[in-house]
Amino acid sequence: MKEKSIPEIFGSMVFDDREMRARLSSDVYRSLRRTIDENERLDPEVASAVASAMREWAAERGATHFTHWFQPLTGVTAEKHDSFITPSPDGGVIMEFSGKELIKGEPDASSFPSGGLRATFEARGYTAWDPTSYAFIKDHTLCIPTAFCSYSGDALDKKTPLLRSMQALNRQAKRILKLFGNEAKYVRTNVGPEQEYFLIDEKMYNLRPDLVYTGRTLFGAMPPKGQELDDHYFGVIKPRVTAFMEDLNRELWKLGILAKTEHNEVAPAQHELAPIFSTTNVATDNNQLMMEMMQKVARKHGMVCLLHEKPFAGVNGSGKHNNWSMATDTGANLLSPGETPYENAQFLLFLCAVIQAVDDYQDLLRLSVATAGNDHRLGANEAPPAIISVFLGDELSAVLDAIKTDTPYQGAEKVIMKLGVHSLPRFSRDNTDRNRTSPFAFTGNKFEFRSLGSSNSIACCNMMLNAAVAESLRQYADRLEGAEDFETALHELIKETVKKHERILFNGNGYGEEWVKEATEVRGLSNLKTTADAMPHLLDKKNMDMLIAHKVFTETELHSRCEIMLENYCKSVNIEGHTMVDMVRKNYLPAIEGYIGSLARNVSLLKSVSGRIKCTYEITTAEKLSELSDSILEKTDALEKALLSLKSCEDIIKTSVAVRDEVLPAMEELRKDVDAAEILTKEDCWPFPSYGKLLFSVY
Ligand code: ADP
Ligand code: MG
Repeated sequence: MKEKSIPEIFGSMVFDDREMRARLSSDVYRSLRRTIDENERLDPEVASAVASAMREWAAERGATHFTHWFQPLTGVTAEKHDSFITPSPDGGVIMEFSGKELIKGEPDASSFPSGGLRATFEARGYTAWDPTSYAFIKDHTLCIPTAFCSYSGDALDKKTPLLRSMQALNRQAKRILKLFGNEAKYVRTNVGPEQEYFLIDEKMYNLRPDLVYTGRTLFGAMPPKGQELDDHYFGVIKPRVTAFMEDLNRELWKLGILAKTEHNEVAPAQHELAPIFSTTNVATDNNQLMMEMMQKVARKHGMVCLLHEKPFAGVNGSGKHNNWSMATDTGANLLSPGETPYENAQFLLFLCAVIQAVDDYQDLLRLSVATAGNDHRLGANEAPPAIISVFLGDELSAVLDAIKTDTPYQGAEKVIMKLGVHSLPRFSRDNTDRNRTSPFAFTGNKFEFRSLGSSNSIACCNMMLNAAVAESLRQYADRLEGAEDFETALHELIKETVKKHERILFNGNGYGEEWVKEATEVRGLSNLKTTADAMPHLLDKKNMDMLIAHKVFTETELHSRCEIMLENYCKSVNIEGHTMVDMVRKNYLPAIEGYIGSLARNVSLLKSVSGRIKCTYEITTAEKLSELSDSILEKTDALEKALLSLKSCEDIIKTSVAVRDEVLPAMEELRKDVDAAEILTKEDCWPFPSYGKLLFSVY
């Protein structure tokens, strides 16, 4: 049989617009479209018609079950499958799926984290269909993307606040567009997330309890070769990896995911996959699915896909770049410099809104990507620093500078630019000086937020970004709507904004020590190094006020989220700590002891042969290893004590501080000695595969 072409398989497992149009009556289709595009309330009759068309479509593709697919605060997706069968009076079954089942589900949700939001006596939450993200089939199950709430209506997931933040931004952006005479039906944010990951051999993976339990290696001496030759980045892709990528692409295409670019990354065994951008909530769903598929498909190829931010010390970790822009229903990108003076002024205003948002809510952006795993990247010399700043490139910076100081830009026209009257010079997409060290870079017609960890859900940073930009736009709209002379007011507003927020603009090297000094001491930017430092700022008054005013979160939701995120941090590190203790006591110490023993036996054997044999190697190695083994024991006891002390902390903030100040340093200390012992020990006496084997065994 001839293999199907890509256009034939693309979206074949998605109930997308093509299917809706083909399978729904025109009334039902139009009504559903209004719900999708304009947030109109869904008619129950429409829901029934959609459900029945969906079931028929799904059954044709072999689906027997359906599930409400949601994103609880665990960070991964959740699903509970129900079959379509309903008993019929004749003792058989019929296949059914009602509008009610499509719209609302009631999973027993008591085991999902709620941060005290859902009292246990009211364990049931409910899931509600998000018609703006298409349903799809995975493993014979029709998956319906849904939001997940408690019975009191509090969001228990990542999708609900994301959708709310998109609405907030839509509301405020439309006010601004109106002032420019633009009657857009809606404004949406678009995201294209670039996903990094590692692929390692499954057999090696299974031999490492640290990878199995925590997703990263907790021990391991550096191999003789790391990433110093830069020979992996964009290098030729190995056959096994190529086969994996081909398989993965097909699976993603079936799910309507626009998998586009793939290449090797900097570290050995590290790769990247980027889809073409889409509407933020769809991009979020797709990114979750993409991560799931990467892991599944890797197993089929005898490999394991690691999505941890820092699986290996000493080589680059994995991040995710969140390319973000705003566009109207006609597809006009609001972050694209325009053709006419008016469009340019509009572009600059939206640009300012983002600059101001990032400055005013640096802490929210930072904490939106804070996890135990990502703390190993941010601020290390590979990922953007924990300090948030905006890169604009030389040209755009010069334009803003000219506006700020009322001086001509590059002498164009030799007049001082007045926005809304004069054309901006055309600035090209700044590809030459793309600054890789900036956490938040303007790349021509979009901003790229680069601080995300590879396993982060992109929902978190986008809800903060959307909300913060909505707040800048609200302030602008309030001011401009009442202005007597729109153009003068606009010009003044942009000038003022540039002056007020230029401290966040930085085109230099974000990795340098000097930047840390300048950012924190001269500019007063925040430098929140760890999750324990960052997360409590979620509850700062200015942040809560803004998020509540734009109806992205309620007060109780914010408290619960802060708690859950900190809990997550503490639990992750706690598991890592216990895994280390376990590996040391059960494997490393006995292995070192065994090797010392064999050295010692050899010494007596050799000495019995001849008194002249010095046994320098055996004796010095045994001495060094024995010293290390004493120290390892001591440090293991210290780590265990630190872990134990967490139990007596009264609240989650104190626990997180203890994790940061006691547990993590104790883990680092212990690792140093074990890695030092690895270098001295005979390879086949070492209990776990080395970094060299983990990083270089996929061909
Ligand atoms: P890079 O040079 O960083 O690889 P690309 O232009 O290839 O940049 O884009 C990287 C990601 O940004 C892709 O997912 C792409 O679809 C996405 N992207 C491109 N334009 C936009 C936009 N206007 N809004 C959001 N994302 C975009
Ligand atoms: Mg990029």
